[in-house]
Amino acid sequence: MESAEFKEFGTAMLNYITEYLDNIRDRRVLPTVQPGYIQDLIPAEAPEEGEDWKDVMKDIERVIMPGVTHWHSPNFHAFYPTANSYPAIVADMLSGAIACIGFTWMSSPACTELEVVTLDWLGKAIDLPPEFLSGPTNGKGGGVIQGTASEATLVALLSARSRFAKKHLSNARSFDEDNFIGKLVSYTSEQSHSSVERAGMLAGVKMRMIPTDEDLRMRGADLKAAIQKDKAAGLIPFFVVATLGSTNSCAFDALDEIGDVCVEEEVWLHVDAAYAGAAFVCEEYRYLMVGMDKADSFNFNPHKWMLVNFDCSAMWIKNANEVVDAFNVDPFYLKHDMQGKAPDYRHWQIPLGRRFRSLKLWFVMRIYGLKKIKEHIRLQIKLAHDFEQMLRKDNRFEIVTPVIMGLVCFRLKDKSNDDNEKLLKRINERGTIHIVPAKLKGVYIIRFAICSRFTNLEDVEIGWKEIQDATTELYPSA
Ligand code: PLP
Repeated sequence: MESAEFKEFGTAMLNYITEYLDNIRDRRVLPTVQPGYIQDLIPAEAPEEGEDWKDVMKDIERVIMPGVTHWHSPNFHAFYPTANSYPAIVADMLSGAIACIGFTWMSSPACTELEVVTLDWLGKAIDLPPEFLSGPTNGKGGGVIQGTASEATLVALLSARSRFAKKHLSNARSFDEDNFIGKLVSYTSEQSHSSVERAGMLAGVKMRMIPTDEDLRMRGADLKAAIQKDKAAGLIPFFVVATLGSTNSCAFDALDEIGDVCVEEEVWLHVDAAYAGAAFVCEEYRYLMVGMDKADSFNFNPHKWMLVNFDCSAMWIKNANEVVDAFNVDPFYLKHDMQGKAPDYRHWQIPLGRRFRSLKLWFVMRIYGLKKIKEHIRLQIKLAHDFEQMLRKDNRFEIVTPVIMGLVCFRLKDKSNDDNEKLLKRINERGTIHIVPAKLKGVYIIRFAICSRFTNLEDVEIGWKEIQDATTELYPSA
């Protein structure tokens, strides 16, 4: 394809995208297709001769859309949001055109430099302690864009493991002295995301799940007791993950208390705020991040709630050398003259290759400005509170956790887990909205998250009516 045809194709696609998003409200939020459906719609072999792009365009509605879950429908209230905005989409187009692989500074200087600066912008926007930023620390601290929060947790864990290997072993790279790996213990809340447990599993270290208090928060005293018990047994506590905004119910661990324990015990503290971290752009939510100065690393996903399309998971590290030490392998073909003068991000992540992802963060922060980003967050939290008020007026339901961000957790009062599960199934089958459940200490609850940037009060009312109607259908006498 040459440029003239690309312009035609690109224009057609831009028109399609705007039509799609402008009218997304009219589509059924959940598809009804069965596994394997695409195999019946397209040939089993790739075409030998190239096809006309117009024929490919035609197949978007025929082949693709029937199987799309419309995450940006205002009626999508499942999981947590995934972001979508026009500035980010355009930035991804440019990233696709430049198509560089920014593994070292030299491999495409703008790719590294913009990432350093935009992560300092973003860190300042959420009032991160300056030790996490590159500018104020001359590069000792700094940010990096990972693909996902799961990768950020694994990178933090592997860095902590390497820091402890340096302290305890004569050869910090071999790990095989004195059953070192077998003695390492990490800790997180029983409410943390499954990716935390998985990071422990991938690294081959124990991950203790600390029970939470009645507000589903991990507390400092419980963490301290677990660490002391392990130390008394000859084990090596080395890593803690605190969650700000848990996936189940948006609970916030007691970061300040946990931070004190980690400082006293000299344990690496990583903070996972994958969803809720975006809210720290708003001053009134920063009380939830008190204690961040005691953390070693912090992560949140602008690709969840900050209008930057997937993938953009922002991670900051106080002492970047500790990550570089863990990840640095320095083959001759990757060496360059500027080494040491700017970050080589290949040492801050698991893969070698990396896309120009900071472009979309830059576009979003410039084109929306912090003011509009704050408005977006505040509106979504207000809509969650509107929904909370609707629920409170219907005594068939109870709200099970405090509504702090854009998530409301509720259930049918005085009904069993099975009854609540039946209700959730019925709501999703009706096809107007999509929601998912969670289990909190064995209790089945229903989550209603404000996800799409298009969701307004009318959509929340539609969602509420769906829930009420499905409840009346299932339990007419309730
Ligand atoms: N941590 C928390 C608290 C989450 O809510 C999620 C996903 O919702 C994750 C981690 C995983 O995020 P990712 O898909 O970016 O790995």
